[in-house]
Amino acid sequence: MALVDYGGSSSSASEDEESAENTQAPTLSILKRPALPTAAALLGPKKQKPDEFEDDVIDDPSLHGGRIRSFKHERGNWATYVYVPADACSDQLEEFQAEAISHLALELELQANDSLHLSLSRTVVLQYHQIDEFSRSLQQALNSSTGFAASLQGLRIYTNEERTRTFIAAPLDAAFVEKMTAILQPIDQVMLDYRLQQFYVPASFHVSLLWCVGDQEKLLNSKLKELQELLEDQDTLSLAVNEVHLKCGNKDFTYLLK
Ligand code: AMP
Repeated sequence: MALVDYGGSSSSASEDEESAENTQAPTLSILKRPALPTAAALLGPKKQKPDEFEDDVIDDPSLHGGRIRSFKHERGNWATYVYVPADACSDQLEEFQAEAISHLALELELQANDSLHLSLSRTVVLQYHQIDEFSRSLQQALNSSTGFAASLQGLRIYTNEERTRTFIAAPLDAAFVEKMTAILQPIDQVMLDYRLQQFYVPASFHVSLLWCVGDQEKLLNSKLKELQELLEDQDTLSLAVNEVHLKCGNKDFTYLLK
């Protein structure tokens, strides 16, 4: 398995950092490392006021898939998540993004996610000195994982846990959920080993395409059929699951699958 640190340029964070405070405590017998501080302990309580986006955002959310940093940047705390890039169908998805934005322009201000990917973890917080060891653990955990050719099918609306943001996403075709779950399992185990929060149960694998501020789930669900028709103009949305990435602040590690 190859490990590549591309040392990317844009910092990445999401609204989900604070969700790491709900870290599930595993039994002591399976703990391999001392407990890490929770996101809440590292970052302080989440601000609820809307102007948090203005006060606390250091980076431009449009530069990293529409994720908004909802905490003050602290030196040494690295927003971290694991993902599969959705490069194979990015042209089709970008075309859909543009069409959907103009289709709903009168009702909603939709933003396009720019680094299209399928998440295989929540966004958690690591400290700088933990990054390399965490990456090695992930590389080892994924050592026997096998890649496959998958596709995305249809559209679904998601909100973040705080319901402060709503997403239009293309879910993984149900035929590939079992294979993706097999890749998720070792990743979740690493999260458990590091006492970080595991992925959603049940997992709903998807590529987020567009997002807007606030809970717009009801409105967007009422538009789903129209949006679906825009997407149907596209051919099969291929997702090549050949590699898993770890995004850690501005670092991006790649683990090639067998
Ligand atoms: P992502 O594009 O991976 O950041 O996902 C967009 C949003 O989907 C996140 O804010 C998640 O909290 C949310 N989400 C809600 N339910 C689920 C689920 N069952 N599986 C994965 N993501 C979910």
